[in-house]
Amino acid sequence: MGTGDSFDAVVVGGGHNALVAAAYLARAGRRVRVLERLGAVGGAAVSARPFEGVDARLSRYAYLVSLLPVRILRDIGATVRLAPRQYASYTPDPADHARTGLLVGAQSTFAAVGAGGDERGFEEFYRRCRALTKPLWPTLLEPLRTRSVARDHVLAAGHPGAATAWSELIEQPLGRAITAAVSSDLVRGVMGTDAVIGTFARLGEDSLDQNVC
Ligand SMILES: Cc1cc2nc3c(=O)[nH]c(=O)nc-3n(C[C@H](O)[C@H](O)[C@H](O)COP(=O)(O)OP(=O)(O)OC[C@H]3O[C@@H](n4cnc5c(N)ncnc54)[C@H](O)[C@@H]3O)c2cc1C
Repeated sequence: MGTGDSFDAVVVGGGHNALVAAAYLARAGRRVRVLERLGAVGGAAVSARPFEGVDARLSRYAYLVSLLPVRILRDIGATVRLAPRQYASYTPDPADHARTGLLVGAQSTFAAVGAGGDERGFEEFYRRCRALTKPLWPTLLEPLRTRSVARDHVLAAGHPGAATAWSELIEQPLGRAITAAVSSDLVRGVMGTDAVIGTFARLGEDSLDQNVC
């Protein structure tokens, strides 16, 4: 960027959110400059080859693309090929020195970690989550709703477990609902990771910061 260059917007950092913002601005006819400190853009969504001699590309952080609305791709004219996978996660069992573990997905292995009785509670928990996520998902590209308007919207969608789900996921420390749903610490840990990742909060905190992710 030379002296005298002028821009309508300068975006600091070239992660995927910045790139999307810059693309929208550019499509709206604005002159935009993105400043990225690294040699490549993409931020945490970029994969890397961490092991010398092994041609395996691993995610740095953002490996699951669950919150990328197709509308954004259409709006900015981006072509992204996403690869679906059969399994959500694998957690080695420390009690067994990681010889076995909990695979969650097409053929889950709850029994292998002594948590066969938790499989149903696990599935029911995520079914309750969908009572919120299904109606809220289409609103994510709209102006942010207040808590009470969002709650009315969720309840109006008519899912039978919606009121309970709202209370468990929004109004109480998330750890309570997870603890009530399953009894194995390993399974709780997997569910807790889904919840708190990136929030740096504890599952039982009264601040409810952990419920935000
Ligand atoms: C452990 C972990 C796991 C995660 N897993 C997932 C997942 O599976 N799926 C998912 O969707 N999300 C996941 N996330 C969240 C996801 O990584 C972030 O939400 C996402 O990367 C945020 O994108 P961003 O564009 O805002 O910022 P980032 O991806 O963080 O990009 C920021 C960019 O800005 C650059 N930058 C920073 N400061 C400056 C500066 N001063 N000057 C110039 N450049 C600068 C950085 O180098 C970087 O390229 C995870 C996060 C963590 C911590």
